[in-house]
Amino acid sequence: MHITAIKGFKDILPDETAVWRRVETVAREVVGRFGFQEIRVPIMEKTALFARSIGETTDIVEKEMYTFADRNGESLTLRPEGTASVLRAFVEHALHSQQPVCKLFTLGPMFRHERPQKGRLRQFHQLSVEALGADQPELDAELMAMAAMVLDELGLRASLEINSLGCPRCRPAFNRALLAFLENKREALCDDCQRRRLKNPLRVLDCKGSACQAHYRQAPSILDHLCPDCARHFERVRDCLAAMAIPFKVNHFMVRGLDYYTRTTFELLTDTLGAQGAVGAGGRYDGLIKQLGGPELPGIGFALGLERLVLMLGEREAEPAPSLSGLFVAALGEQARGVGIGLAHRLRGQGVKVTTDYAGASLKSQMKQAGRQGCRYVLILGDEELAKGEGLLRDMASREQESFPLSAELAVLARRVRTAGE
Ligand code: ATP
Ligand code: MG
Repeated sequence: MHITAIKGFKDILPDETAVWRRVETVAREVVGRFGFQEIRVPIMEKTALFARSIGETTDIVEKEMYTFADRNGESLTLRPEGTASVLRAFVEHALHSQQPVCKLFTLGPMFRHERPQKGRLRQFHQLSVEALGADQPELDAELMAMAAMVLDELGLRASLEINSLGCPRCRPAFNRALLAFLENKREALCDDCQRRRLKNPLRVLDCKGSACQAHYRQAPSILDHLCPDCARHFERVRDCLAAMAIPFKVNHFMVRGLDYYTRTTFELLTDTLGAQGAVGAGGRYDGLIKQLGGPELPGIGFALGLERLVLMLGEREAEPAPSLSGLFVAALGEQARGVGIGLAHRLRGQGVKVTTDYAGASLKSQMKQAGRQGCRYVLILGDEELAKGEGLLRDMASREQESFPLSAELAVLARRVRTAGE
């Protein structure tokens, strides 16, 4: 019996990696423009880190984490998101001493035990960015602009929805209003919401069930309960977005799936991915750094789901076929293969992509291989040519062929192959 990959864990195959690289390159380039620096954190952490930051009553911590005891009995978890690890590293290495706002990004796999569907996997990838140390609303707006710019530069569109979740000063009053509202709806709610209602009422608004959602349409709005500071902050965020001409919609039901959010939250939504409508999401988490044992500093971040970006790109027209490139060394016979492997090695050393045949195939079959690989040139080395100290260089684009002296400067050939098709 053959062993397959784990359910929800997916191979990214060679013909998919080009679009992945493009997404990653654009993401890195755009966040770099906003002054974000890369940080790479481990994919596993002590379980307590996530329980403490994401929140005990969130879907992620309650039912989605890959948690296990290691050989020493310590409880470890594969990271379900990036923020907790980046903040842990920020505190652990005292990165706040470096500058007023510490801007960090990381790119990599995350793990959540969810039901796999199109655009929803158990191992998936995120671009995760955090801006730590500033609480100005301008920063919130700039982060949303940055997320939108990543999509824009990939030629993609998504709509921006924003909300404010208030702060520990205004949240309790809203919680009371929400609890009062939920009191007489008790019977009608799903089991999860019954539990959430008691433990963390805000969480009910995040329920994916349509029956519950129908009830919540009449629920009180957090925006009616913001304290003056939070209301001013939210207003300024909206003004800044308008100043940058970034369209957005206020959605006062958006609570997000993590407990640590305060004030601004936002989501980037698309209608092209069915139920998996969110391509990115984030928000402010002003108490989190302190909660993780660090200094009392505010912060804000977001994550973009790379699988969903890749899927959105795939739904547009196919990319044009790449132009022919590189050189195929078609050596015929053992002696020629010996010469060929030397030539190939020296050419690669000069930055040329060179492929060859290893099986002693016929010339016809080697020409076919070169064609399939999209090579621009084929260097044919046969006994006859070798005896004259030359090879036959065939241009696969023009179909012209010329003899090529093997004593010639390799650099000339290297340059010619490298610049072909530019
Ligand atoms: P959803 O509502 O789709 O479950 P979420 O609110 O759990 O998303 P976040 O934790 O905010 O998502 O993560 C940010 C982004 O990461 C999402 O907008 C999405 O693009 C992506 N993402 C989250 N979970 C998955 C997953 N299981 N598979 C693929 N991408 C995911
Ligand atoms: Mg989720």
